[in-house]
Amino acid sequence: MNMSGKVRGVRTGRISELNLRDSDKQSNLLTALARGAEEFSIGKGWPDGVADLIADLGRITGVNRVWLFQVLELSDKHMLMNFPFEWVDANTRALRKSSKYDTTHWDFETCSETYRTLVESRRRGEWQTVVIHELEDCDFKDYQEEQGVQSTVSMPVYVEGKWWGLLGLDDCTAPTRWSDEDIALVRMTAHLISGAVIRNRLASANRQFEILSGLTESSAWELDISSGYCWGDSKILSRISCLSDNVHLSLLQTLRLIHPDDREKMFSHLRNQINNGELNFRKDLRILRDKEFVWSEVIAKIVLDDNGQLRKLAGIIIDIPERKEKEERLFRKATLDPLTGIANRGSFDHRFMRMLCDFKNGGPEFSLLLLDIDLFKNVNDTWGHGVGDQALKHVTQIMQKTLREGDFVARIGGEEFAMLLHGDTPDTAERVGGRIRRNIENSPLFIPGEKVPLTISIGIFNVSKGTAHLDCKAMFGRADDALYEAKSTGRNKVVMK
Ligand code: GH3
Ligand code: MG
Ligand code: MG
Repeated sequence: MNMSGKVRGVRTGRISELNLRDSDKQSNLLTALARGAEEFSIGKGWPDGVADLIADLGRITGVNRVWLFQVLELSDKHMLMNFPFEWVDANTRALRKSSKYDTTHWDFETCSETYRTLVESRRRGEWQTVVIHELEDCDFKDYQEEQGVQSTVSMPVYVEGKWWGLLGLDDCTAPTRWSDEDIALVRMTAHLISGAVIRNRLASANRQFEILSGLTESSAWELDISSGYCWGDSKILSRISCLSDNVHLSLLQTLRLIHPDDREKMFSHLRNQINNGELNFRKDLRILRDKEFVWSEVIAKIVLDDNGQLRKLAGIIIDIPERKEKEERLFRKATLDPLTGIANRGSFDHRFMRMLCDFKNGGPEFSLLLLDIDLFKNVNDTWGHGVGDQALKHVTQIMQKTLREGDFVARIGGEEFAMLLHGDTPDTAERVGGRIRRNIENSPLFIPGEKVPLTISIGIFNVSKGTAHLDCKAMFGRADDALYEAKSTGRNKVVMK
C-alpha cells in the first residue's frame, strides 16, 4: 500500500461517493437505494439521511413530489398524521410548511367511504396507486386536487409490526400509471426508512439508558429461567467477572453471582411476589462484581409463563454500597451497645416481646436472666472509669463464651445485662446462670501489674405455662426481684423466682 492509502488494482470508496449517470434510470435508482442504506447504517442516519434519500428518489424518478407522513394517532374513529419529510421539484409547490397540511386529522365517522377503504388497505400494509381524475367525487379527491396531484403511488411504512407512516410519490403533471418497478422501488425505500426509524429509536433508547445508568450507577440484565440465558449490558459484563457478551449461564452459575446468605431471601421474596400476583421484584442483594460481593439494589419485572411459572426476570441493578453502609451504620447505632458491641436495651425489649408473643402462640418456653456486676462502683473508684469499661467488655466476653448459639444477650443498663435462653427447662437456666457466675468469678480482669476481681449476681425468671398470664413488664419485674434477692443475700449468687 502506498502513502495515499491506495492499492494498485483495487478501487475502494463509500457508496455516497458514487455518481449517478443520467442515462440509466434503473441503475441510478439502485445506486440511490444503496446510498440511502449506507447513510442509515454508517452515515447521517435520521433525519438527514431520510431527506437525502427521498430527494434522490424524486430526482431520479422524475416525479414532482415525494412525501413521508407519520401516523401519530390511530383508532377506529380517527387518525392524526403529521408531515415530517417532503421533496419537491423546482416547479412544484411545497406543502409541508403550510399549516393546512402540516398536521392532518381524519374523522372516520364523517370522511368518505373511499378514504376509509384506502386507510383499511394501508393498515393491511398494501401499496396503492391512484389516478385522481378516475376517483368518484369525494373528500380525498378534493384533497388531492387541491394539492395539484394527478396521480400518486403510496406505500405504508411498518415499524416493529405497527403502521408507522406512509411514503408517496406524486405526479402533478400527468395521470401516470405506475409500473411494477415503481411500486417495488417505493417498497424498498419504505423498508429502508423503517430500518432508519428502528435505528433511531434504538439510539434514543440507548441514550436514555446511558443517562439513566450514569445517574443511578445502574446496569441492565435479563435472565431467562427456562433456557438459563443471561444477558447484561456492557457495564455489568465488565464488572461481573464471569460474564462476557451474550453468554449462556446455567441457573447455578447465575445463582453463584448472588451472595450465599442472600439467595434464600431472594427466593422467598420472589415466591411472595408471585403468590400475591405482584409481578415486580425489588430487593437489596450482594452481587458478585470484580471478585467481591457488592451491595446492589436489584429491580426486576417478573414474567410468568401460561401456567403461572416463572419464565423470565428482567431489570436493572443499582450499586448501593454507600447507602447500605449508611443503613447498616444507622442500624448498628439503633440496635447495638457501642461499648460492648452486643444488643442494646431496645433490641432486648423487641426480642423479649417477640419471644413472649411466640410462646403465647404455642412457641417454646424460655428463661429471662438479669445480670448485674457486683459492687461495680468500687471498680470505677479503685481503678478508674477506663478499667471499669474494660471490665464491662470482659464480662460480656465471658457471657458470650458461656452462652450457646441461639441464646441472646444484651446490655440493658450501666453494668446490667439481660439474657434470653431459648427452650430451656428451669434447671438448665439455673445451670447456665451458675456457669456464668463461676466463670466470671474465676476469670478476673488482668491489667498491667494487677488483677481486678469481678463477681456478678443473676436473677432468673422462667417463662412457662404457669406464668403465661403475665406480661413483659411483670415478668421483667419478677426477674428483677430475684436479682434483688441475690444482691440482698450476699451477692455473687444466682436466684431463680
Ligand atoms: P451492686 O452490687 O449493688 O450492683 O453495686 P454497684 O456498685 O454495682 O451498683 P451501683 O448502681 O451503685 O453502681 C453502678 C456503677 O456502674 C455506677 C456507674 O458509675 C457505673 N457505670 C455505669 N455505666 C458505666 C460505664 O459505661 N462505664 C463505667 N466504667 N462505669 C459505669
Ligand atoms: Mg446496677
Ligand atoms: Mg452492680
